[in-house]
Amino acid sequence: MLAQNLNDVRQLLNNAARAPDRPPPRLLAVAKSQSAAAVAELAAAGQCAFGENYVQEAAARRTELAALDPAAAGLEWHLIGHLQSNKARDAAALFDWVQTVDREKLVAALARHRRGDQLPLNVLIQVNIDDETSKHGCAPDAIAGLARAVAAAPALRLRGLMAIPAPSPESRRRRDAFRRMRACFDELQRVHPHIDTLSMGMSEDFPLAIAEGATMVRVGRALFGARPGKAG
Ligand SMILES: *Cc1c(COP(=O)(O)O)cnc(C)c1O
Repeated sequence: MLAQNLNDVRQLLNNAARAPDRPPPRLLAVAKSQSAAAVAELAAAGQCAFGENYVQEAAARRTELAALDPAAAGLEWHLIGHLQSNKARDAAALFDWVQTVDREKLVAALARHRRGDQLPLNVLIQVNIDDETSKHGCAPDAIAGLARAVAAAPALRLRGLMAIPAPSPESRRRRDAFRRMRACFDELQRVHPHIDTLSMGMSEDFPLAIAEGATMVRVGRALFGARPGKAG
């Protein structure tokens, strides 16, 4: 069943309008609140990149998965939930990517804790694009300084930007937020030409995000179905 969902999502992803010179966007499967068995099923269907919201949950699932499926060791893991500085050590050890870097203190902590025997940690700077007081992420005018700090740390690799635009029933407002993110990305790329990732768009709106320039979309419910224990 999950293989069918994966096919459906991939089809939408491939059909989404995008500039002809841009490579197909990457699909990140958001595993929050899903069982290790569900992750293993999606991995068996060919999905290799997964997103986690909580460091603790990620650690537990990784142990479970290793027992369930030895091939799971080859999967790629992205932290997409808010990261407290006191969890930076665990996050630096567990993840291939951290998409929620939004302050200098966190840059320093991740750089300090990424082990020398690991590849550099891929980093996205999270931007609070709709200036929501309740949301994490840096202000757009803080991107350049944070990017400089990430780029200066050998243990980290700056890959681009991530955003969670304010939920809105009006697609026009979300489209506008995606556009502003793309502008931030293009501006950052002029200083850091190697960056390649703009992570935005979820189950509800990923085709729209792709049309506005997303290079990675983060999809949970459209792949796994509704999250257990939660409505919607
Ligand atoms: C849950 C979550 C998603 C996926 O949301 P769906 O609506 O399930 O596709 C994407 N990004 C972040 C940061 C999330 O927390």
